Amino acid sequence: LVKAVNVIKHFGHNEVLKGVDLTVDRGEVVCLLGPSGSGKTTFLRLINQMETLTGGRIWVDGELIGIEERKGKLHVRKDSDIARQRSRIGMVFQRFNLFPHMTALGNVVEAPTKVKKISKAAATAEAMALLEMVGLADRARYYPSQLSGGQQQRVAIARALAMKPDLMLFDEPTSALDPELVGEVLTVMRELAAGGTTMIVVTHEMGFAREAADRVVFMDAGVVVEEGNPNEVLLNPRHERTKTFLRRVK
Ligand code: ATP
Repeated sequence: LVKAVNVIKHFGHNEVLKGVDLTVDRGEVVCLLGPSGSGKTTFLRLINQMETLTGGRIWVDGELIGIEERKGKLHVRKDSDIARQRSRIGMVFQRFNLFPHMTALGNVVEAPTKVKKISKAAATAEAMALLEMVGLADRARYYPSQLSGGQQQRVAIARALAMKPDLMLFDEPTSALDPELVGEVLTVMRELAAGGTTMIVVTHEMGFAREAADRVVFMDAGVVVEEGNPNEVLLNPRHERTKTFLRRVK
């Protein structure tokens, strides 16, 4: 579903990504691990076109992201194309980023009605089903400020799913939460993973990576250092940099 080839990203003189290759199959759950500053967030933001590539290519579902090839030349895609591509990708951020002036239900209904032009009634029914799924049907009429961080993050997951994305990106979704609220969010993510949702998850939650990931990718200083099944990488890392990182986070 996702194919990234030699992805390079510079911010001025800062080379944040130095040639990252990664493929993610449909239905696969990939956890991205690595020290702070290794470029994990930037990589997710490139897939979702919140940043533009300095070099390399990313395909999602066989389609080049952000650029297109016409008559052998690369062109920046038009805005409507980019909006269409982005609407197929759901993203959940470290901070919950809900619309503060809308209820939980309003947050989930917003994009399907505004972007996809789905009827209010159909979008509301679908949104209630999603809120039920994340365990918050009884909080549908609450505003974000009336919800705990874990509840807000579960609403954010429901909101992303409401667009029926092909791919879900999670950027450290539990790292801003109080420890006692982490579990409820990971439970929802585990259910999604088990249900076949394609996910790329940046996380420091090694337990989640071990149980839910099909593959773990360890990044450091803008490159993929090693990847493999969670037991291999987390229990028997081959590279010294991975070993050092894992010793610190455990
Ligand atoms: P963390 O776990 O701390 O989020 P990360 O691995 O996700 O780390 P990134 O957030 O991708 O790392 O950041 C990698 C580097 O890119 C950092 O040095 C950061 O300062 C730099 N960077 C990220 N975004 C920008 C930006 N918009 N402008 C300039 N530099 C940036």
